[in-house]
Amino acid sequence: MANGFTPKRMCVACREMSPKAELVRIVKADGEVVFDDNCSMGGRGAYVHRRTECVRLAQKKHAFERHLKCAVGPEIYEKAAEYCDG
Ligand SMILES: [Zn+2]
Repeated sequence: MANGFTPKRMCVACREMSPKAELVRIVKADGEVVFDDNCSMGGRGAYVHRRTECVRLAQKKHAFERHLKCAVGPEIYEKAAEYCDG
């Protein structure tokens, strides 16, 4: 692998690979869906771009639910939207 390789993760909305810094991670921990600000938590995680369009697309596709295999309330999507740059 070339120097400067950055680990990439897939956005559950647009399925594009991006460096983790461009994504928000949500994790299912103890049956609860939470935001993992430091990408340090274990458990099953889903990534979405810090873009309103990706958060909305994920919501439309129920991408978090499908990825985490659990119910994800609208408040989670609203909170994800708050992480967006625009
Ligand atoms: Zn995306």
